[in-house]
Amino acid sequence: MKTKKEISILIIYTGGTIGMVQDPETGSLVPIDFRHITDHVPELRKFGYDLHSVSFDPVKDSSNIDPEVWIRMAEIIEDSYNDFDGFVILHGTDTMAYTASAMSYMLENLGKPVILTGSQLPIGLLRTDGRENLITAIEIAAAIENDAPAVPEVCIYFDNKLTRGNRTTKMSAEHFDAFNSPNYPPLAEVGLHLKYYNQLICYPAKEKKLIVHKSFDTNVAILKLFPGINRKLVRAIIKTEGLRGLIIETFGSGNAPTYQWFLDDLNQFIDTGGIILNVTQCPGGSVEMGVYETSRQMMAAGVISGKDLTSEASVTKLMHLLGRYSSREKITESLNKSLAGEISQ
Ligand code: ASP
Repeated sequence: MKTKKEISILIIYTGGTIGMVQDPETGSLVPIDFRHITDHVPELRKFGYDLHSVSFDPVKDSSNIDPEVWIRMAEIIEDSYNDFDGFVILHGTDTMAYTASAMSYMLENLGKPVILTGSQLPIGLLRTDGRENLITAIEIAAAIENDAPAVPEVCIYFDNKLTRGNRTTKMSAEHFDAFNSPNYPPLAEVGLHLKYYNQLICYPAKEKKLIVHKSFDTNVAILKLFPGINRKLVRAIIKTEGLRGLIIETFGSGNAPTYQWFLDDLNQFIDTGGIILNVTQCPGGSVEMGVYETSRQMMAAGVISGKDLTSEASVTKLMHLLGRYSSREKITESLNKSLAGEISQ
């Protein structure tokens, strides 16, 4: 059993509100370097764990985070995997759920915690939520249960809840309780005690080694349906040069209009090698194709059910699979199964 001092955690600071200050000239929030964080959370220095940090330079607002940056994050973890017991990624909240989803597919057989956190208010402000989020994220990354990491998964810790990263979605641009995991319960909750729900956590087979997948194909699109959608729009998206994967955000349990032109366009895309994934635009619940006529015809055309994937987990999964495989069968098979706990089976 390791002592506190022997538990080592790497904090990877990528940017986001948690490390931002107000520019005195423009009044807008601008990123600063990592020293700002330790200045404002002196508790970090006395934590008792062996804490190390690495900072992106320049740091990024998470709106500027893309697959190239995900690969850099994964490489930092890969290169230092044997040196640390856990990893905390400080990240802007706006695209945190995308990054967490992407990382969950990239880090196959992950056996150590990778906890993403950030804040709604900059850490320098008195009422910041960043201090608690950061301190507890570190505690979770360092937690050992039964001689093994308590949560060897890519997770988001925010406002007293630890949720699986690829199940999580940003729900509020206002509240401290900014994230939710609508289709999977939290992996841990924080009150007086840190309570882990072991039966909900994925544990990798011990003998399996970390494999880091580093290819993404960004030739994907999300088409969100709305009543009155017209063919020109649908066609413009489907005819995008080089498009290989399309996510349709459908109504309710996976329903779409049964206009002939709509089905013809989908059929044509699939016939020319495109992959279409059906994901519900409802914040919670699952696609169940075939329940209504309005989804049966899409199923007949070869549209794949995204089941209860979040939008973030679906677009990153599609980019990951298109980057990883060229075989249509392999991509379809992987879309139909859970790679890292992202869908209910
Ligand atoms: N725009 C910021 C970002 O996502 C917001 C935040 O950190 O909460 O980087």
